[in-house]
Amino acid sequence: MMAGFTPFRRLAIIGIGLIGSSIARACRQHGLAEEIVAIDRDAGVRDRVVALGLADVVTGDAAEGVAGADHVILCVPVMANAALAAIISPYLAPGTIVSDVGSVKGAVVKDVAPHLPEGVFFVPAHPVAGTEHSGPDAGFAALFVNRWSILTPPEGTPEEATRRIRAFWEAMGANVEIMTPEHHDLVLAITSHVPHLIAYNIVGTAADMERVTQSEVIKFSAGGFRDFTRIAASDPTMWRDVFLTNKDAVLEMLGRFNEDLLALQRMIRWGDGDELHKLFTRTRAIRRGIIAQGQETAAPDFGRTPAPLPPVKADPA
Ligand code: NAP
Repeated sequence: MMAGFTPFRRLAIIGIGLIGSSIARACRQHGLAEEIVAIDRDAGVRDRVVALGLADVVTGDAAEGVAGADHVILCVPVMANAALAAIISPYLAPGTIVSDVGSVKGAVVKDVAPHLPEGVFFVPAHPVAGTEHSGPDAGFAALFVNRWSILTPPEGTPEEATRRIRAFWEAMGANVEIMTPEHHDLVLAITSHVPHLIAYNIVGTAADMERVTQSEVIKFSAGGFRDFTRIAASDPTMWRDVFLTNKDAVLEMLGRFNEDLLALQRMIRWGDGDELHKLFTRTRAIRRGIIAQGQETAAPDFGRTPAPLPPVKADPA
């Protein structure tokens, strides 16, 4: 256990996918809960949780799973939170802290908070960490190390509850920032949601090409396309929910994106090389900033290991 963190007595995690299983692993590794309860509706997932030894109790019954818990974390797609909150709320003991990990915060606060009984505290969280993989086998304990976790406690949340959840994320290696749900949704619209939409769009466009064959798209993908395909391989349910629940912020950012794209289109049409060069120089600096803050590797090509050279064929004698 990390210094300064008192473990939860009984931690219930609902939804043992990439994020839920990573939290379970990190809690096991750092001793952040005396007992971990894993709740998942899918029997196949529950079998994997048992096989991987991720929890002390494994159940498909959310109501039973949260009974007696002092911390409950919802780790399901954003639009699944409301129904789950309604199911578990009668079984939550006073003093329990409920949290989540959803990628949109305004909708989660609106959907979950009204269900929670008096004396149960809500501290929503969003770990800005992830991969394009899903499910209990995809998680790993170090997922949150040196990544940001954003907390958006609604007004009236006791400071002690927020402090406890901050310490919990810090114990898993994350850096914590607190902001309003509205500000979170605006920031994440440009840093995460719109980039995913662009990736889904470009991969979709390439898939619909007629004059360039599918096999050519795959064959020459190292030119840049393949880096979009990683993002566009992200979980369809999760991302459908993100766009449906962060509609306003995403539409606002898309409006700006479209304007800037039109400006670029015009620079190309009019041969304005100076302006193109100026913009590309500015964007390079952003990447350098991300590397300087330890959010990305400085190694070329995302640190991919180059393939070994094939053996040189001997000259025929
Ligand atoms: P995941 O690997 O697909 O896991 C999602 C889990 O939720 C699965 O166990 C799934 O069960 C369960 N679930 C789905 N719909 C449900 C429903 N209606 N009722 C009950 N359980 C349901 O997804 P994840 O990547 O861990 O994402 C979970 C949450 O974390 C999402 O809210 C997402 O926005 C957020 N998040 C994701 C990332 C990322 O990069 N992936 C990063 C930060 C935050 P089944 O297997 O039965 O469907």
